[in-house]
Amino acid sequence: MSELLSQIWTPQMQAAFTVVVVLLVILYVLSIVWVVRDAYLRGSAWYVWAIVALVPIVGIIAYCLLRPPMLRIDKDEQELEVALKQRELMKYGECATCGYPVEMTYVLCPNCHTQLKNLCSHCEKALEPAWTICPYCATPVGGQKSRSASSSSSRSRRRTHSERSHASSSDA
Ligand SMILES: [Zn+2]
Ligand SMILES: [Zn+2]
Repeated sequence: MSELLSQIWTPQMQAAFTVVVVLLVILYVLSIVWVVRDAYLRGSAWYVWAIVALVPIVGIIAYCLLRPPMLRIDKDEQELEVALKQRELMKYGECATCGYPVEMTYVLCPNCHTQLKNLCSHCEKALEPAWTICPYCATPVGGQKSRSASSSSSRSRRRTHSERSHASSSDA
């Protein structure tokens, strides 16, 4: 038996064995480093997982089975993407009549000319149909609209009239 052992346990064999042991130790250390890094990136308690990873082989298998499902960076990215998409949805919509993609600021559908927005009679900003007051200049929408519109038009009419009279007076 010891003869057989000495036959197998040659210096070459010892060297090979040492190399294997060193490789295993390196793998073990690397697995701990990977577990700690991965658990940290996934936003979980990496120090707990470091202790788990100290158990050779079983530790890393346990971590692979039980690790938190998503990388923290991925989670952040996904949340950002969802927020971006929501903003995009808020910015763009569809024409209720023809389904043509329209931007939030459009007043008319460029395809079928359906009126999408009311215009503020005072500041002429686009208003949502549901709004009862202009959020830009606090002018009420609806009943006051026609009155203020007519007053502004009469004002402009008056202005053009005075301009005309001014022009005629300069002519004279
Ligand atoms: Zn349309
Ligand atoms: Zn306004």
